[in-house]
Amino acid sequence: MEFAKRLEKIPPYLFAEIDRKRDELVSRGVDIINLGVGDPDKPTPSHIVEAMHKGIDDPSTHNYPPYQGTKEYRQAAASWMERRFGVKDLNPNTEVISSIGSKEAIHNTFLAFVESGDYTLISDPGYPVYRTSTIFAGGESYNMPLLAKNNFLPDLDSIPEEIARKAKLFWINYPNNPTGGLATLEDFEKMVAFCKKYDILLCHDHAYSEMAFDSYKPPSVLQVPGAKDIAIEFHSLSKSYNMTGWRIGFVAGNAKGIKGLGQVKTNLDSGVFKAIQRAAIAAFDTTEDELQKVMSVYQRRRDIIVAGLKSLGWPIEAPKATLYVWVPVPTGYTSTDFVTLLLEKCGIIVPPGNGYGAAGEGFFRIALTAPDERMEEAIKRMKEAGICYK
Ligand SMILES: *Cc1c(COP(=O)(O)O)cnc(C)c1O
Repeated sequence: MEFAKRLEKIPPYLFAEIDRKRDELVSRGVDIINLGVGDPDKPTPSHIVEAMHKGIDDPSTHNYPPYQGTKEYRQAAASWMERRFGVKDLNPNTEVISSIGSKEAIHNTFLAFVESGDYTLISDPGYPVYRTSTIFAGGESYNMPLLAKNNFLPDLDSIPEEIARKAKLFWINYPNNPTGGLATLEDFEKMVAFCKKYDILLCHDHAYSEMAFDSYKPPSVLQVPGAKDIAIEFHSLSKSYNMTGWRIGFVAGNAKGIKGLGQVKTNLDSGVFKAIQRAAIAAFDTTEDELQKVMSVYQRRRDIIVAGLKSLGWPIEAPKATLYVWVPVPTGYTSTDFVTLLLEKCGIIVPPGNGYGAAGEGFFRIALTAPDERMEEAIKRMKEAGICYK
């Protein structure tokens, strides 16, 4: 039995070696602090869970859902886009589609638009799916480095003309995982203009749209006038409402983008359980107070980590959004050296920056998904091990 060639092209799992070391330490009884995964550790807010209970008890949710999402769900998503971002003119029938979380929709967009010989423009470091889905679709990716000196934004002027001409998709994600980088509406305007010039579908992965602190509110790319001519935006309820296990999101924007994605999806999946769609409608109605309760948990952890790292000499600022802190490694270490040191000396698991792309070398990522005491314990262990930023 042979695997398909496409599987051989998928890069090896970069955390395999770390996982092996972790298992070895666990078997020796070491108390591991896992700051690796971006998976919220708190429960889904109760008004959402209650809507789900009601939905399950109603037998009319038990059959196949409409492929593109129920009318109510698409309408609720469009209304939420208007309330949250002032994006008014979304047609719920042609410009909104439900998704099984956003990972599925991200992948299927590659299948809808990329073929052999086509390029995708993806950020480096970035969410690994952009790279692997390019491979699955048979295309080539061009890495746009996200550098601290450019505020973790892609440098559009450095993209070679011949690559831009062959590109079908341009992927961005702000607030950004893993760098914590933010984009302003002006930054989005430049990207919209670039994609219009080269006729590239601009894909904005907005998984962290609500995960922001210090009263910062991330904008939508669809707020840029004319963005709908060229852009689609991927929304996910996973991170904002502690709903990673529920698998629901939506994509909104350019009708042709939505149509292509829908055509792939009608042939691959059969939509999202209607009870989950009802729960998601309840999530859209989450009050600002309720949302701030969820966010304050991460904000407190962020403050513990940032203050702790500063006390150990790290030159970092508190990120205004996402579940992560993107931290430079001390001089003389590679990302892999340093995360290995943290694991062996302190029992702390964090992914190395180069796991998200070559330009992530020199960084590691801390996920704010462990309780305050564990965050404090992590800093204490680093201090006791004599680890500091030099
Ligand atoms: C978590 C994450 C996603 C996917 O989340 P889903 O649970 O599939 O909605 C997409 N993009 C980024 C950048 C993420 O961090």
